[in-house]
Amino acid sequence: MSLTAPQWLEKIRALPLSSKVKIMNVCGGHERAITMAGLRSVLPAQIELIPGPGCPVCICPEEDIYTAIQLALKEKITLVTFGDMLRVPVNVSKKSARSLEQAKAMGADIRPIASPLEALQIAQQQPKQTIVFFAAGFETTIAPVAALIAQGIPNNLLILLSGRLTWPAVALLLETGVAFDALIAPGHVATVMGAEEWQFVVEKYHLPAAIAGFTPESLLAALYSILRQLIEQNYFLDNCYPQVVKPKGNPTAQRYLSTTMMIVDANWRGIGMIPVSGFSLKESQADARVQFPDYAQETRQRRGEMPPGCDCAQVLLGHIYPNQCRLYGNACTPRSPVGPCMVSDEGACRIWWAGGVR
Ligand code: SF4
Repeated sequence: MSLTAPQWLEKIRALPLSSKVKIMNVCGGHERAITMAGLRSVLPAQIELIPGPGCPVCICPEEDIYTAIQLALKEKITLVTFGDMLRVPVNVSKKSARSLEQAKAMGADIRPIASPLEALQIAQQQPKQTIVFFAAGFETTIAPVAALIAQGIPNNLLILLSGRLTWPAVALLLETGVAFDALIAPGHVATVMGAEEWQFVVEKYHLPAAIAGFTPESLLAALYSILRQLIEQNYFLDNCYPQVVKPKGNPTAQRYLSTTMMIVDANWRGIGMIPVSGFSLKESQADARVQFPDYAQETRQRRGEMPPGCDCAQVLLGHIYPNQCRLYGNACTPRSPVGPCMVSDEGACRIWWAGGVR
């Protein structure tokens, strides 16, 4: 029998919680659902829900955005990318474009798209023009890119890939002692990669974990599971999104990923290098970095720093809440964002601001 959100809340409130419990989520969709439903304000005060590195646009390294800007401005290519990426700022000299949006205003042909299929359609409509698809995202976004490549793309479509795997970031947080007591594991990622991928949280780090969907009911069910596990000191990985998340995930999507991509160490903006956390293309013919090596060389010097005064790195690591940044709501708002966490729909700062948290 499935319970309603008020019924789950009642069960959670009835649990004998003695001390503070910090529970991290690593998915912008989870953070959005938690914030928009106002879950923090109705849960017992001992429960802290911490947003972690769940925004692929926020952790996309400056060097990748800089490469995209330079390609679009200097090589007369058409650059297509998911809309969130257009306004993400990078630190460059005042004379250069500080975002893809500014590069577009300077005359570059940059177009927002909503799906990889649109990139293919644009390439097919303009066979004489080089189209570069700047694809940044986690497993759920990169799997359709892999499918596109595996099924064959035209020669004039190149990929500038900035894909990341989620679990190595959580492993890094746990390895470096970022304090949380339990994990809400990302439902969409588990749909693709399989629930088992999150078993390491329990087995290696001895913490409770539960995979959640994106409704308040599913999130509260996951929270209830985690809290009971803590109270009973019996930790396991609970799949609270069984309608969608299946054991072993989506084998077709995984096959596309493994045939087109390698797993490599990768830089996360604000966090740094994380071992085995990035996707890299196997096929150099389609790789914009291989086809335009000068730009990749130039930008490899840049590291994942945030704009001056922006605490996005601390937010992504779960060290502070968005509204603990000094710029939140003052110098930094969605209308005038300073850091990537206020730009992307999956950024914690933007979500908190949209949810009315001041
Ligand atoms: Fe960065 Fe703005 Fe968030 Fe502060 S409020 S951490 S400046 S994005």
